[in-house]
Amino acid sequence: NLEKVEKRVRTTCPYCGVGCQIELLVQDGKIVRSNGVEGVLPNDGRLCVKGRFGYEFVHSPERLTKPLIRKNGELVEATWDEALTLIATKFSELKEKYGPDSLAGYASAKCTNEDNYIFQKFIRTVFGTNNIDYCTRLCHASTVTAMLKSIGDGAGSNSIEDFETTDCLIVTGNNIIETHPITATYVKRGAAKGMKIIVIDPKWTPLVAYATIWLQPRLGTDVALLNGMVREIIANNWVDHSFIESRVEGGMQAFLELKELVEKYTPEVTEKITGVPAQKIKDAARIYATAKTAMVATGMGMSQQVTGTHNVFSLLNMILVTGKIGKERCGIDPPRGQNNVQGATDVGCHPAMYPGYIPVSDVENRRKVAQVWGVPFERLSDRPGLTTVEIIQAAYHGKIKGLYIMGENPMISDPNLNHTEEALQKLDFLVVQDIFHTETTRFAHVVLPASSWAEKNGTFVNSDRRVLRVRKAVDCPGDAREDWRIIHELAARMGKPMPNYRNEAEIFDELAMVTPIIAGISHARLEEHGIQWPCPTPEHPGTSTLYTDRFNTPTGKAKLFPVEHVDQTERATPEYPFILNSGRILYHYHTGTMSRRNKTLTNFTNHPYVIIHPNDASKLGVKTGERVRITSSRGTLETQVHIADEVLEGELFMPWHYTEAQVNRLTRDELDPYSRIAPFKISAVKVEVL
Ligand code: SF4
Repeated sequence: NLEKVEKRVRTTCPYCGVGCQIELLVQDGKIVRSNGVEGVLPNDGRLCVKGRFGYEFVHSPERLTKPLIRKNGELVEATWDEALTLIATKFSELKEKYGPDSLAGYASAKCTNEDNYIFQKFIRTVFGTNNIDYCTRLCHASTVTAMLKSIGDGAGSNSIEDFETTDCLIVTGNNIIETHPITATYVKRGAAKGMKIIVIDPKWTPLVAYATIWLQPRLGTDVALLNGMVREIIANNWVDHSFIESRVEGGMQAFLELKELVEKYTPEVTEKITGVPAQKIKDAARIYATAKTAMVATGMGMSQQVTGTHNVFSLLNMILVTGKIGKERCGIDPPRGQNNVQGATDVGCHPAMYPGYIPVSDVENRRKVAQVWGVPFERLSDRPGLTTVEIIQAAYHGKIKGLYIMGENPMISDPNLNHTEEALQKLDFLVVQDIFHTETTRFAHVVLPASSWAEKNGTFVNSDRRVLRVRKAVDCPGDAREDWRIIHELAARMGKPMPNYRNEAEIFDELAMVTPIIAGISHARLEEHGIQWPCPTPEHPGTSTLYTDRFNTPTGKAKLFPVEHVDQTERATPEYPFILNSGRILYHYHTGTMSRRNKTLTNFTNHPYVIIHPNDASKLGVKTGERVRITSSRGTLETQVHIADEVLEGELFMPWHYTEAQVNRLTRDELDPYSRIAPFKISAVKVEVL
């Protein structure tokens, strides 16, 4: 009954990185409905099923409402005073005994910029280390690493609405209809108007129905495929010579080096490596290179491999030789998985970079930051910290003693979970701050009840660099508190108090002082609509397309990185004859902490499965609905079979949201040497019928 609605609060969706603007209707202190906000980008009134119905978790009876302390092996309720005193004492003791680098923190892509900014400030100034990272390391780290080196920014170069108006779109390793549904609505509209869509994916996705062409390479052969496309582009002189001469470092000399490297990737050789027919490779190269404008959306399929950085380099090489970047409706856009995965890195939750992507080694920036933060310059470490998986590996080897996790659930999201589990058990002290019990709180010494997105003010940054307001709609349940207030209190109890911020707008103002890309933004400016960074001054309108005048590299030019295809380090063997791929589905979200506590979403689907090709199923003698055991050299799980020709023979696919069948029991923690990402997409496994 809408007449009983007490208030309507405009905020930003808590799920994917599209950043849809929603209006929460509140009655009797509870959210009763979620509507899309019309006339405002990026969604203009549209919402997917998660934005429309996914708020139910906020009022779940399973919410954490009291701090919990482990006593005699059990987590028992405690007061805030008891919990914070214990945490401050334990972390201080560990720092004193083993040094600042024995401590680490996981920030959260589900928390606001203000929460994350305060969290990284805490890790840097109170712990005194740069050991801070979060889930971006598990998703787009290699994309960002390659983009930073090649073009100078790791963020998407265009606006979400450009997905409708570009002439050609390559979607590679990204199930965009299920993972970024509202961005996909722009793509579908573009397709209806004649946009050419090239899907590159080893697994069928719903976008294939809209595609001009679908290239289905074998898992782990992306570099070969893209080198093959670049060779075809060069062979047909679809190259933008003037762009290369004026905007690429080394000009034609650098181009000739790339040309020489890709020469061996003839369509026939590329077909042999990738399994993609030579004619399709030629067609895709022609469609992309000859389009007037073209964009690329790249996802986890490209990044979550030990060759992830090289995969994205090869993609960027193709973009640069055709000059399809630095102008409207041309560029590269990595749609972000979580709502604030862009923002958390922007505000400094990175082991090697301060807010605004400034290296920790930059002395001048450290001096400026120390002054703004009011801390001695010497307190800020110039040593890059450990990344997410490295923190776990260091805990396993006894080098990390204390870990503070805010809103992350590594016991589902990290690779090689059996190893992660052992590492967490070895910690002297683990604090988890979250809104629910998770698979990770089982190992915590203290659990702190935090606020959901609907209970806090602040900002998120979406996939097109749009800073968007988050507004409080309802109160926290029980004794739960806003994340930044918990961290703020802890800093004081550890003897290093932060300023007395009166509200989140004041935190943002401080953040803007140390983050040049958002220096011109304030909460007040975001009242009506979001602003895309870079926005250097209060008068600046924001930037919809990047690199129109220069790339954000030291020289202002982009850089080609010729890279060779190499075989994956883990391949099918007689013992483990299948390659397992993993990913997301429409109705669930990451580790399931939020989406699986929504009745509406779980009514759609709520059980794990593995997709097996019909020919493999017939060889195994298994039918849809039957159960199988899947085993890698790291671990094992049991799940239900779904037979479909969505995957190639010899390849499997599983959604990774489900605790009942934890895919990451099977994955590896071998890392890409440049980005330190783990290869979630490629695990050799065997299948046994139960
Ligand atoms: Fe939320 Fe993403 Fe769906 Fe938009 S597309 S409603 S941001 S989950």
